[in-house]
Amino acid sequence: DTPATRQRVAVLGSTGSIGTNTLDVLARHAEQWQVFALTAGHNVDLMAQQCVQFKPAFAAMADDTAAQLLRERLQAQGLAIEVLAGAEAIAQLAAHPEVDAVMAAIVGVAGLAPALAAAQAGKRLMLANKEALVVGGAWFMQQVKTHGAVLLPIDSEHSAVFQSLPEDASTWPARVEKIILTASGGPFRQRDPATLAQVTPAEACAHPNWSMGRKISVDSATMMNKALEVIEARYLFDTDPDQLAVVIHPQSVIHSMVQYRDGSIVAQLGTPDMRVPIAYGLSWPERIESGANRLDFMALSALTFESFDEPQHQQRFPCMQLAWQALRGPQGSTAILNAANEVAVESFLQKRLGFDQIYALNAHVLEHCTPGPVDSLAALVELDHQARRLAQVYVQQAARC
Ligand code: NAD
Ligand code: MG
Repeated sequence: DTPATRQRVAVLGSTGSIGTNTLDVLARHAEQWQVFALTAGHNVDLMAQQCVQFKPAFAAMADDTAAQLLRERLQAQGLAIEVLAGAEAIAQLAAHPEVDAVMAAIVGVAGLAPALAAAQAGKRLMLANKEALVVGGAWFMQQVKTHGAVLLPIDSEHSAVFQSLPEDASTWPARVEKIILTASGGPFRQRDPATLAQVTPAEACAHPNWSMGRKISVDSATMMNKALEVIEARYLFDTDPDQLAVVIHPQSVIHSMVQYRDGSIVAQLGTPDMRVPIAYGLSWPERIESGANRLDFMALSALTFESFDEPQHQQRFPCMQLAWQALRGPQGSTAILNAANEVAVESFLQKRLGFDQIYALNAHVLEHCTPGPVDSLAALVELDHQARRLAQVYVQQAARC
């Protein structure tokens, strides 16, 4: 391939855990992909390094201050990269006419607008940012379809399910009985439930199998991550909520499974390394080198499984059931749950809310916030704000007692 035929990629959230893993994969395949744009929040140091290495046409930071710092850095290096600032600029880059593929790896609802912009511009959308889909739901999927975008799941469980499903999506309803997501159980799988109130942010962020951003690390500790993934699966694969099941599998070797009508189960296995689903998102339907270690069956001691129905797990992981509660609620309920959880996690990290209160806050907001119609970005943003206000009041009251 000549450079002229290279696919141009925009990496949103390039300084994060998924972003850096994406650049690692892209660096292995410079003949096939060109980094056209990088965007990040406030990490100017790492962004400057990435600009030196990948020489994108554009870079964007979340605000003017960070963007100005980056401009100065790049000027000092003699690099002619156009630096933009703000959420609108990031969304514009995601929809830029010269972009072929977008890695959506911003964390939280902040990533919704640019992911949507990529979808509405008909891009190949590699979606790591699960919150965007949890908030946008069926409406987001409809936008993908209407505008001819191609949505490739990057979340490892959803990539596993996608790899285990037949290529023709129209055959799924007739063939698929169940989608079984695996969960590692996070850092507190064996913790005494009576001590969860004392959990510190550092303990919650120490995941046994994966190294990830702080928000998703806390979500993995509460199992809200799995709840968000159940919701994500429901929209990605258009299943009934009753067809979704979760099993605890501490080794994270089986990344998820599809159970068919005849009892057959197809699973995707590998070492836990996000570069595998990232490489698949980039190359689908082809396969490329990801850099991941190969799974050594002889080195595995055992693959084990535990049920969420065990009473101790029900006490440890009350957040799990919020997924089904939100999915069975009125349209917009999953956006409300996501907003509540973003406030809860932030408050927990700032030590304004106990670890065990994350569930209580999420359940409270889900119960008391009334969704309106969710048929535009503006409506979703308004619903998100409404739920956040309710969550903030809860945090203030929780702090007082
Ligand atoms: P992270 O915190 O490591 O990185 C987030 C990135 O988004 C950073 O580049 C940050 O600068 C940028 N960002 C944050 N807020 C922003 C804002 N308001 N505007 C613009 N940019 C902003 O997070 P991560 O672990 O890489 O996760 C990213 C997304 O991928 C999350 O939605 C997460 O749930 C999902 N995900 C991550 C993993 C993983 O292994 N890390 C696995 C599956 C799914
Ligand atoms: Mg996952």
